[in-house]
Parts: sequence; structure tokens; C-alpha cells
Amino acid sequence: MSVMAPETNPIRNVALRPQVASLPKYVPGARPDKDARVHRLASNENPYPPLASVAAELERELRGINRYPDMGTVDLLGELADYLDRQAAAAHAANSADPADPKVAVSIAPDNLVVGTGSVGVFGHILQAFVGPDDEVVYPWRSFEAYPIIVDIVGGRSVKVPLNAAYQIDLPAMAAAVTEKTKVVVVCTPNNPTGTALGHSALREFIAQIPSNVLVIVDEAYLEFVRGEDPVRGLELVAEFPNVMLLRTFSKAYGLAGLRVGYAVGAPDLIAGVRATVIPFGVSTMAQRAAILSLRAHDELMQRVDALVAERARVVAALAAQGWEVPVTQANFVWFPLADRAAQFATDATDAGILVRPFVGDGVRISIGDRDDNDALLTFTQNWIDEHPVH
Ligand SMILES: *Cc1c(COP(=O)(O)O)cnc(C)c1O
Repeated sequence: MSVMAPETNPIRNVALRPQVASLPKYVPGARPDKDARVHRLASNENPYPPLASVAAELERELRGINRYPDMGTVDLLGELADYLDRQAAAAHAANSADPADPKVAVSIAPDNLVVGTGSVGVFGHILQAFVGPDDEVVYPWRSFEAYPIIVDIVGGRSVKVPLNAAYQIDLPAMAAAVTEKTKVVVVCTPNNPTGTALGHSALREFIAQIPSNVLVIVDEAYLEFVRGEDPVRGLELVAEFPNVMLLRTFSKAYGLAGLRVGYAVGAPDLIAGVRATVIPFGVSTMAQRAAILSLRAHDELMQRVDALVAERARVVAALAAQGWEVPVTQANFVWFPLADRAAQFATDATDAGILVRPFVGDGVRISIGDRDDNDALLTFTQNWIDEHPVH
């Protein structure tokens, strides 16, 4: 039997939805050729391999993959709720001496949580649940490149609010962009790809200005790397404002990017709506188990985060000494605002065996790796700035 000629293939009469036909492409971070020895600094991954204890238990878990995962992710939701409650209590205790602190009491239960295939997956489900045709979604730009794609897929309209001159989210401009058509506002802190973070008081003041029929999503993918003053206390924002949802992930600080598990925190009625849209059995048995084990190994994993934060400080100081001007980063990456030199820089980096993430015409995002990766990066940046002086 022969395959039909393309011009007679009936599939050619099946039109894609216009939003899908015109979707911007998600550009994946560069991946190395097989066996090539390269420094993988393109995707903000954790450079550390899984903990031996986690890997060993996952190998045992593999023997059960003929069974479906727990569709309700019950064990993971229970452990997460306990973990978040403890975190909120610790933050509360740390702030209790501050008379200006609003002392918002937090209590997280499983029905405040929904788990999905990475926080990108959860973000998609949130928009499916809340954004209809022509509803507006306000978000900063440049920010996470998944936002415009997912807004288009659900048929919403993107309202992109430019970052300010310091590569930070411009909260007054974001608030001014909200209209009666706005359904969702997204804030990404620290912001991918610029690394800048918002303070708690500024974010709280911003949210207080947003009408209560607008959902505010705070994407905290890099939360664990924040060391600045007045760090965002997201759980308190959820407790205080019932229209706020947090997005968190096991992909970055916890090093589980390949397993795909993330979650949202919010009011139970909103979370129930999101749960109604999730793909049944989306989060695999391995992913659920690894997330639970990672919560239990929290202290050990956070020591790795501390090491990455120390490396970040070392890299940033060395870059400054080389003459680079980069925005203050609170994440596991650095933004090089190279504008029309971004593409050349990235090509040269690849040639030097360093994979980075260019945004052509805008800048280059480079992840913090292990010491060896970062040393290679700093050698490259020194050579590059010598050959291409900034001033
Ligand atoms: C990496 C990242 C995510 C998380 O992606 P996962 O789907 O959880 O792997 C979410 N938001 C931002 C801004 C990110 O950079």
C-alpha cells in the first residue's frame, strides 16, 4: 500500500486553531552532542547528581512501574503540606520581633495544593481553568518564555509589561496595565532570565492594588536561591489574599528537572478548579516518590543550594572585576544584557565548550554550575571582554 500524495492527504484539510498555527516556539536550552565534554549552563539546571539515597530508592521504585501512579498524589500532597507549614512557621518566627510585620497566620492543607508535570505543566492548567477567549494575561517582559506560548494555547491575550531599566519587574507599570479585561497577572520572582527579585513589602503592596477578581500568580521557581533583604513570603500572601497562587518546582533547587514535578499553592476553591483540568496520572510514580524523598532530604539539598549561592557570589564578583555590568541576581543564573552582541557571544561560548542561553538581540542567560563549569565560564568571559571591550 502506498502513502497518499500530500496534496490528496485529507489531513491537509484539518486546520490548526489560528492561535496554535502562530505559536512562538519554546527554544530549548542547548544540549551537548553525545559524549562531548561541555559545560551545560543553558537551562538553569542543578549541576549536582541525585542524592545516592534518592537514586537507590528510585531504582527499587522502578520495579513497580507496571502500576499506575497514585492519581491523587495523596502522599506527596500530605508531605508537602507539612513541609510548607513548617516553613511558614519558621518565617513567622523570624519576623515576629518586627513590629511592622503584619503577622499573617498560615496553615497549609493538602487542599491548598495541586501537583503537576513541572510548574510549567501546572501553569498551563491554571490558565486552562481561568483564562477564556480574549481574557488578558498581564506579565513582565522579558520573562519566562513559556508564558506567551501557554497564553496563546488557551486563547488568551498577552499583555507584556517591559522590565524597568534595572532589569526588574516594573510593578507600577504592571498595576497600570490591569484593565477590566484582565483575568490573570503573572509575577516571576526571581525573574527568569534577568535574575532580579522583588521584596516582600513591594510585592504585597502591588497585590493589594490588584482587583480581587484577578488571579495573581507568583512564579517562585528560584525561591530557594534568594538571599536578599525582605525576601518574598509567598505563603503569607496566599493566606492574606485569596486571589494569589504560588508556583513552585522541584526542577531547580531540588535537582529533579528530568522527572517533571511542580506544584501550586492557593485557596482550596481555586485549587479545585485547577485540579479539574489536570491530566489524570500526569505525575509519574517516580516523580512523586522523588519529590517526597527530596522533602525529607531537605537540609542536605539546601546545603547544595548554599554552595551554588556561594559560587554565584564568586562568579558575580569575578565578572565585576573583569568589567562586566550584570544585574543583581538572586537566582542560579546571571543575565548578560548584551543586546545585539548576544548571538555572537553565545556562538563564541559554544565554540569554547560552554552552552549558554541566548535571547537574540536582547541578552544571554548563563546558569551557575559547579566550580569547574564556573571557572571555564570566567576564563571565557575574560577572553571575550578583552576581545570585545564594552566601552
Ligand atoms: C524553570 C522554570 C520553571 C519550572 O519549570 P518546571 O516545569 O517545573 O521544570 C517555572 N518558571 C520559571 C520562571 C522557570 O524558570
